[in-house]
Amino acid sequence: MSTEENVKIVKDFFAAIGRSDRQAVQALSAEDIEWIIPGEDWPLAGTHRGHEGLADLLQKASEMETSLPKPPEFVAQGDRVLVVGFATGKVKATNRTFEDYFVFAITVRNGKLTNIREYVDTQALARAAEMDASPRPLPAEESWANIVSLRNPDGSLDSFRLEETLPLLTDEQIDAIRPFAEEQEIPARQLVLREGDTELDFLVVLKGAIEFSAARSFGKERTPIVLIPERSFASDLSLLANTPLAADGRTTEATRILRVRHSDFRRLLSAEPDLATVILRAFVLRQSYKLRHDVGAVVLIGKAIDPDIAKLRTFLSRSDYPHKLIEPDAIDQTGKPMLDSYGVHPSDLPAAFIREGCILKKPSVFELASELGLVEKLPSDHVYDLAIAGSGPAGLAAAVSGASEGLDTIVFDALGPGGQAGTSSRIENYLGFPTGLSGQELASRAAVQALKFGVRLVSPRSIDRIVKAGEDFFELTLLDGARVLAKAVVLATGAVYRALDIPEYGRFVGHGIHHAATLMEAQLCVGEDIVIVGGGNSAGQAALYLSKTTAQVHLLVRQKNLSSTMSTYLIERLQASPKVQIYFDTELTALAGHGSLQNVEWRSADGRSWSKPIRNMFVMIGAVPNTEWLKGRVELDSNGYIVTNPVSPFETSQPGVFAVGDVRAGSSKRVAAAVGEGSVVIQYLLHYLAQASSVLTSKKAEAV
Ligand SMILES: Cc1cc2nc3c(=O)[nH]c(=O)nc-3n(C[C@H](O)[C@H](O)[C@H](O)COP(=O)(O)OP(=O)(O)OC[C@H]3O[C@@H](n4cnc5c(N)ncnc54)[C@H](O)[C@@H]3O)c2cc1C
Repeated sequence: MSTEENVKIVKDFFAAIGRSDRQAVQALSAEDIEWIIPGEDWPLAGTHRGHEGLADLLQKASEMETSLPKPPEFVAQGDRVLVVGFATGKVKATNRTFEDYFVFAITVRNGKLTNIREYVDTQALARAAEMDASPRPLPAEESWANIVSLRNPDGSLDSFRLEETLPLLTDEQIDAIRPFAEEQEIPARQLVLREGDTELDFLVVLKGAIEFSAARSFGKERTPIVLIPERSFASDLSLLANTPLAADGRTTEATRILRVRHSDFRRLLSAEPDLATVILRAFVLRQSYKLRHDVGAVVLIGKAIDPDIAKLRTFLSRSDYPHKLIEPDAIDQTGKPMLDSYGVHPSDLPAAFIREGCILKKPSVFELASELGLVEKLPSDHVYDLAIAGSGPAGLAAAVSGASEGLDTIVFDALGPGGQAGTSSRIENYLGFPTGLSGQELASRAAVQALKFGVRLVSPRSIDRIVKAGEDFFELTLLDGARVLAKAVVLATGAVYRALDIPEYGRFVGHGIHHAATLMEAQLCVGEDIVIVGGGNSAGQAALYLSKTTAQVHLLVRQKNLSSTMSTYLIERLQASPKVQIYFDTELTALAGHGSLQNVEWRSADGRSWSKPIRNMFVMIGAVPNTEWLKGRVELDSNGYIVTNPVSPFETSQPGVFAVGDVRAGSSKRVAAAVGEGSVVIQYLLHYLAQASSVLTSKKAEAV
């Protein structure tokens, strides 16, 4: 159904409500419709479910006199329709008058309303209560702006999937939370959640509201972001990831809440899986809301082509941390005095503006992460059941499977969740995603799933050494010197790109030569010619993706054809694309440029040669395993891949240490295979843990 059709259905529905036309109301709504109206002393308040619930609501509505001084406004996007308006009236039995500034968030599926959430505009109600006789109806936009405050680039308010971002909990869902929570009364204007706090509690608003405000990029002043209304909850992904909160949350009036302590929150999620789905979806949408609007964003100042900036941006993207890049030339008169006041000069770039009073000059990824509060202190005496090196697809799958089996799990990554898959713009051969998904999307979802099961995700931290430190545990030493103990280890460190053996190559890596093709790289070469080197799937995907925004893609392939190295669907699409020119039997011959890449030359076996002014080249010619640090610890094959045991699959030459994904000798080098191995390894690992513990128990018994 089109947006216009959905709006018409909603208009018809409300017209039928106005006429008390029960038949029409039922015909326009799904049988399992759910309509939640907040409030306590309001006759219509409560959760109204199904056609019976609607009949009951119509009955209650008929006991009131209601009028709309002005037609409500309908704002729609796809199957979601917002109705914003103002109603006045009185309850017939008591003669009590009311004014209601309302926002209904409605979902329409297959021509019927399935879901209505009313967001009561508590601020407007409070204002109305203070006013006598004739309250001033709020303009619709203003009323709506009391719930969400952030604007899209076109100036409209961002209400994208509002009913899922700010879900209103049903009576039953609130009752399900009560055993895990304590009820508290909080005075008006009190700070209940503070920017920078970790170990957050989960707060459900029963009465009143909590407003969140944050400083937005470069801003000194806090701006309101969102109002958490009655029946919704205040918290976001920081609660699960245990990272610092990006905004302050303050009560707008005397507010009653249910407080679930941080330590009890996971118990609630495991005990109430349906509720957990609602909460996690809201957390993910809130994160995307923050990313869209740079809420609590780090501002990086530097040139996009600077490899140091690229590293910082990759880390922040992988950590789903809001950030924004400002090129030095783009700093206007508002930004310049501020940089001067911090003593930041061109030679100090790249710089990272974290918050008012805190700017980092030339930070490393680790320094930036530390300043953002993302580097936690690790417990040196705690023994984890499972430590995983690498959070690419294989490591994340092992983490989710391990933790869901009850293993106390910690995962380390040198950069952040995603691995090689995180550098792919579109993965189309992963089961269940017919339209494909980006590697970063896959990793972000998997990371949330891991957090839900209680996995501790730690980045940017590299593991440098593993030694067997006791009878039943290993000691892992990180590059920064921290140590962690674990009963079993999974190595999922994947691989890194192979470089080309050509003069000057190293000088241009990060200065025009790239090994990933994500949105970040695509932005660097809009409207220009580019070169891609490679004949595998990653080169083919990059060519298709980048051809959308570049002038011409020159794809250099060493072989005489692509049939043995690239999937057929990619070959067909490349051949059909007028913007991709394939050069077979061809080699790169020279690179040139001052500071960054400016010219590329190549030659084919039949003697033809080309020289073109190219500023961006993508090299995708396979990878080498990340195992340098494992030499002498576990058996590696002649190419450096980890050898695993055919009898106890995935186990390395060191019992208790397993290897999965691309880093394992003989693996398939595909996302699905990495995910499969990461999931299956847990079965063998549980067997190892059970055996190790029984050996230990019998040794202890013998000693007694
Ligand atoms: C551009 C591109 C496109 C691709 N497209 C597809 C596709 O469409 N379909 C498909 O099936 N496959 C695709 N692949 C292949 C796929 O991405 C890999 O097979 C998959 O990512 C392997 O997963 P992994 O978890 O084993 O390793 P990786 O993804 O390589 O992850 C390893 C992780 O370990 C971390 N790490 C390394 N050393 C350490 C250390 N010492 N301590 C801590 N952390 C460490 C790294 O930072 C990294 O995050 C593509 C690959 C690329 C590069």
